[in-house]
Amino acid sequence: MKDTFGRTITYLRVSVTDRCDFRCTYCMAEDMTFLPRQEILSFEEMERICTAFINRGVTKIRLTGGEPLVRHGIMDLIAQLSHHLKTGALKELTLTTNGSQLSKRADQLAELGVKRINVSLDTLNAARFAEITRHGKLETVLAGLEAAKQAGLKVKINTVALKGQTDEELDDLLQFVADNGFDLTFIETMPLGEIGGSRVDHYLPLTEVRANIAKRWTIEESDYNSGGPARYVDVAETGKRIGFITPLSHGFCESCNRMRLTCKGTLFMCLGQDGNVDLREVVRSSESNEPLQAAIDKALNLKPEGHEFIIEEGRDGPALNRHMSVTGG
Ligand code: SAM
Ligand code: SF4
Repeated sequence: MKDTFGRTITYLRVSVTDRCDFRCTYCMAEDMTFLPRQEILSFEEMERICTAFINRGVTKIRLTGGEPLVRHGIMDLIAQLSHHLKTGALKELTLTTNGSQLSKRADQLAELGVKRINVSLDTLNAARFAEITRHGKLETVLAGLEAAKQAGLKVKINTVALKGQTDEELDDLLQFVADNGFDLTFIETMPLGEIGGSRVDHYLPLTEVRANIAKRWTIEESDYNSGGPARYVDVAETGKRIGFITPLSHGFCESCNRMRLTCKGTLFMCLGQDGNVDLREVVRSSESNEPLQAAIDKALNLKPEGHEFIIEEGRDGPALNRHMSVTGG
């Protein structure tokens, strides 16, 4: 699958639910209205769409959300998709999770062929964790991370950079991932969705995070490329790599290889743009896969060249009204 800018699409991210057991301040408002059940794709519909993408050359699928592991029956979908791992059509099946259910699920994920997971963790301070996630408990996530480690899953920690918070904990975070053998990536906040508060107050550019780390750690630019938007440095003291995802400060769209499916079947071609194609109507109205393939072709033609994010003084509302939990980051 090539888009009109010559980029090959090999990566599908699927938000399996818009619901979550946390309410992270940068992601959701305290009171969220979630979609009614009939609007959400069934697992059969999700699997059918994923298979259509795999047949067209997608080799990596990431399940996200909302919180993917809180959707009832999610392990059944993972088991269905893992058949494509066995045939070799799919090279990687992975997920991004807040870690709250990992103690229960880590072993099963590993058995189903999941090798790596991304776990979001913004702080190692229990009180701050409760404040940021509103409903989360740090100790539950730490136990989940331990379970993932014991199950042999490779873990990448995603940390959203927040002013007055992350900057106070950089050394602890670097040491924590080094001690546990995890990777670490910092993410800049993105202006997606109304969150009932200001984003400018908490916006912490990753250039500052990097400069701060460089004061106490020996870092060296790495030419490692994961195929995604992250740029990397190596930390000499820990021998670990740290990633920085800076969608607001740098362009990374030239190498974009992904599309995003929401839990209601809307296919977004770009995280930072509203253009989309509705696949739910297509799968619900026909058993044949031809209309589905035609809709995927339409999406390929519509994939834009790049995103249009801006966070700045005086422009504090969301750039897009869609919450991150709709597309799952
Ligand atoms: N619930 C799962 C989790 O937290 O990992 C998966 C979905 S969550 C929307 C995916 C990622 O998006 C998380 O790492 C989260 O920190 C990040 N995220 C959410 N809102 C964001 C925002 N406004 N800017 C940047 N990253 C955001
Ligand atoms: Fe839930 Fe993930 Fe959003 Fe936090 S970032 S509210 S865990 S979907």
